Amino acid sequence: MSARDRETAVALARAAAALDGAVVGLGTAALAVASWVKYLAASGALRRIAAAPVVAIPDLRSLLSGEGDGDGDEPVFAAVRGHVRVPPRGKFLVPPGSGEHCVVAKHTQMCLFNEWRGIFGWTFDLHALFFKSLKEQITTSFRWVPFVLVDPENMTGMLHVKLDRAMQPLPLTTVYHKLIPVESTPYTLFQTIIGNGYPIALLDEEKILPIGKEITAIGFCRKNKASVEISSCPEIPFFLSELTKDEMEAELSSRARTLFWASVVLGTVSICLLGFATYRSWRKIKQRREARQAQEIFRQTTDDVTEGESSDEEAGEVGDGQLCVICLRRRRRAAFIPCGHLVCCCNCALIVERHVEPLCPMCRQDIRFMIRIYGN
Ligand SMILES: [Zn+2]
Ligand SMILES: [Zn+2]
Repeated sequence: MSARDRETAVALARAAAALDGAVVGLGTAALAVASWVKYLAASGALRRIAAAPVVAIPDLRSLLSGEGDGDGDEPVFAAVRGHVRVPPRGKFLVPPGSGEHCVVAKHTQMCLFNEWRGIFGWTFDLHALFFKSLKEQITTSFRWVPFVLVDPENMTGMLHVKLDRAMQPLPLTTVYHKLIPVESTPYTLFQTIIGNGYPIALLDEEKILPIGKEITAIGFCRKNKASVEISSCPEIPFFLSELTKDEMEAELSSRARTLFWASVVLGTVSICLLGFATYRSWRKIKQRREARQAQEIFRQTTDDVTEGESSDEEAGEVGDGQLCVICLRRRRRAAFIPCGHLVCCCNCALIVERHVEPLCPMCRQDIRFMIRIYGN
């Protein structure tokens, strides 16, 4: 665990302890709700993907003509598998890093910190879970040209891919990456001493969608003049993917299952935590009320005694072992609860009780309340 993770964990534990588990309970409940919402989205997407027909590219046109009144205005949600090609008279991209022909080129830069445990290693950053991660990728350039999907065996017909406004990740291949080390300075030494991360390298990466790659496109197919095009469906986490439709379904159903159980477990934990916190605060309120009542009774009895001019002050009659340990003049009358020590007279007990933190003068335990003891 890094220094920053430790700080975060300590801060979270302190916040949790401050509110008797109620904060953790509420946080867990929020996570449970969030994973339930995600589960609903995943299972909805799964149902839609399962219902989508797998259509071969040459059959698309006839499928669209069959729907509706023949205009082809109604889009059909379908999955299509084919190879990436540049349309006739189209252009392709040649990114500078690799020089490979492609239709989508993305160039990213990522700053690697010394806390990063290897590019291919597993890393757990608690800080990044709650705050903004420092290992952020910056996309320096993203270019794409119109492209189509074709069936390699039956070249009749093609599917134009509408990439604009698609939020889903693209099935890109990394073709080039370069690690540029950052030279250490006296300042990085200072940062190591105070336990902060410092940049050690810059990772320069180039990812492309190469021509000829076999992918699945899932989305809305519609006719646009003479051609057929596919656009993304925002509710589905896939648009273009290396996975086949069956693999997509398998991945989504395992994701939905995980989210379902996560929300069940988190929900149960949050109910337990909130229930326990409620029970504890209810018990605290009850104890406080009881203590206040006991104090009221104690004060009343003390007032009665002082009014009635008791024999407590006649030190002569009181044995040494029965004198108040504070004033050494009056008889011991006030017992402290819960420790049970009978060492103070009523007046001194009231003075002790007025302290910010009332403690028994014998054993230093907390005093919840006091009772008056009668000798005979
Ligand atoms: Zn006293
Ligand atoms: Zn005591």
